[in-house]
This record gives sequence, structure tokens and C-alpha cells, in this order.
Amino acid sequence: MLGWPRVCVAQPNKAHLALARLQKNERIGGLITQNVDTLHDQAGSHDVIELHGSLHRVLCLDCQLRSPRDAVQRQLEIDNPHMVQVEAVQAPDGDTLLDPAFEEHFQVPRCPHCDGERLKPDVVFFGENVARRRRPGRWRRWKVRRACWWWARR
Ligand SMILES: [Zn+2]
Repeated sequence: MLGWPRVCVAQPNKAHLALARLQKNERIGGLITQNVDTLHDQAGSHDVIELHGSLHRVLCLDCQLRSPRDAVQRQLEIDNPHMVQVEAVQAPDGDTLLDPAFEEHFQVPRCPHCDGERLKPDVVFFGENVARRRRPGRWRRWKVRRACWWWARR
């Protein structure tokens, strides 16, 4: 909740923009990234495979529904108004370091579909496997090979 505002205002850097230009000029095809910040999309890239998922979605571990992170953030702020103005330390890994006293009255968001409370960012955490649906299909693998071939010819 407290780290999201910082994540959602991140902007593509020169590398993201350069890759988008290479795609626009048909020098490369799709992109496979381990990034979870959607900055390649924001830079204008297309056919991006987010191998490790996206922080812009939330996954319900009970029913597998994926929800936009912004919607969950709005619910978090409605349910936890005492947290909205809290200043917290942002760790480099995206975690927020917070006084445990704030956790006492914290309302965990619920899934809008099944009412479960086992929501997590739709990303691959350390020790988890990449979801099969995120692995490139045959067509995308061909496009990636083609892109690599194009790049090697230069
Ligand atoms: Zn659910």
C-alpha cells in the first residue's frame, strides 16, 4: 500500500525507449523481460513477455483472478485511512519498512470475486516457478528467434 505510489509513477529510462525505437524500426521483434514494472509497455514496446509478471496486477491465490493493482490500492486506502499519510522507509527491494504498531488495525483487502484474502502481487517471488502461461508460445518463440537473428546479423 505504501510502496505502490512510488512504483506507479516510475518512468521509462533511455534503455526502455531505445528498445521501443528498435522495435518501431523493426530491428527487433518482441521483448522478454524479467522486469515487473511495465516500463517497456510505457516506453511504447509491444509483444512484451513479462516473464516474472507485473506489479500492476494482483493475483488471488484462491480463485486465480487477476485484478488491476490500482483498484486494490483504492480499496486499501478506503479500508485503511489511517495509513494513507504514513511516511515509511522504502527498501531497495520494494518492501516498505513500517512500525509494527500500524499493522494492528490494518484491513487486508479481499478478492472481489471469491472474497478470499490471499492476494499477492502477480509476480514471481524468489523460489517460485515462472507460470506456464507466461512462457512464450511457439509463435512468440519464433518471433524471439527471428529478433535474435536480426540482431546478430548487424
Ligand atoms: Zn479470489
